[in-house]
Amino acid sequence: FSKDNGRNCYSFYFDELETDSNRVLTLDSELRKAIENREFTLAYQPKISTEKNEIVGIEALVRWNSEKLGFVSPAEFIEHAEESGLIIPLSELIFELACEGYHQLVSAGYPNVPIAVNVSSIHFQQQSFLDSVQTILERNNTSAQSFEIEVTERTVMNSAQETVSKLVKLRQLGFKLSIDDFGTGYSSLSYLVRFPLDVLKIDRSFIQHICSLDDKQAIVDAIIQMAHRLKMKVVAEGVETSQQVELLKSMGCDYIQGYYYSKPLPMEELIDFFHFWEVEHQGRI
Ligand code: C2E
Ligand code: MG
Ligand code: MG
Ligand code: MG
Repeated sequence: FSKDNGRNCYSFYFDELETDSNRVLTLDSELRKAIENREFTLAYQPKISTEKNEIVGIEALVRWNSEKLGFVSPAEFIEHAEESGLIIPLSELIFELACEGYHQLVSAGYPNVPIAVNVSSIHFQQQSFLDSVQTILERNNTSAQSFEIEVTERTVMNSAQETVSKLVKLRQLGFKLSIDDFGTGYSSLSYLVRFPLDVLKIDRSFIQHICSLDDKQAIVDAIIQMAHRLKMKVVAEGVETSQQVELLKSMGCDYIQGYYYSKPLPMEELIDFFHFWEVEHQGRI
């Protein structure tokens, strides 16, 4: 290394660190303002049943188009909100927005489409989680039957006993429960038996190569069989091709979610999609 190189190298790292920490600071203050001003929207992605080709539900995915930062991906700002604690007010806002979405669906003539909401493990673990969710639902004249709660493996791996009793209560209230991104954490199906879950969502990373990689195919096949033995329905996430749909159908996968049918859509476009689906498939929704 020459001295010059060394110096360039150093200043490069320095600039990068500085940009990183600037971004974190900006993100933090923008996120705070955005929560206050309700600058978030939800996009909704339909889930289709393989058996009857019906729309069986939708997943709500938060979107943030920041005035200062532009579009920020949820992967980035959710993680940041979890670290700063902002996830609690954000998560409550997301539930509020999902309630609004529910009423929009009712007005459009679709009262029986459950909305799946992703719940951060930080929010879930709060003592007040159940109360906070119930309060929001009541305030917005909605009931648990209209919603599904998606938790991740990370959530259920934490303090199992408390988690079990919370999940039991949520289910008694009428929520459907699903485990999201299955296969990416460290839990096993045998570990999951103790949790009262209705739906298992196989992570996109397994679905991506099921048509070309035999081992992925074998894993997905085994997950579907075992989930069914445990009385869970199975959703394949991130399905993009008709070949994947056919293969998943042949394996007995219950529901398909992915760009193949639709990207996550703003509510108005989702309702258009529903109309299209009813005409095209003479389908019930
Ligand atoms: P997730 O819950 O597993 O959501 C599925 C992600 O896969 C979404 O990304 C969705 O847009 C994307 N996706 C769906 N179909 C396809 C496909 O066919 N191909 C590809 N390449 N991607 C597909 P998104 O919206 O960027 O969200 C990423 C993650 O951020 C979510 O993963 C979830 O963990 C988190 N997230 C999103 N919205 C919320 C929210 O409202 N609350 C919480 N706590 N987390 C959220
Ligand atoms: Mg999800
Ligand atoms: Mg997922
Ligand atoms: Mg995922």
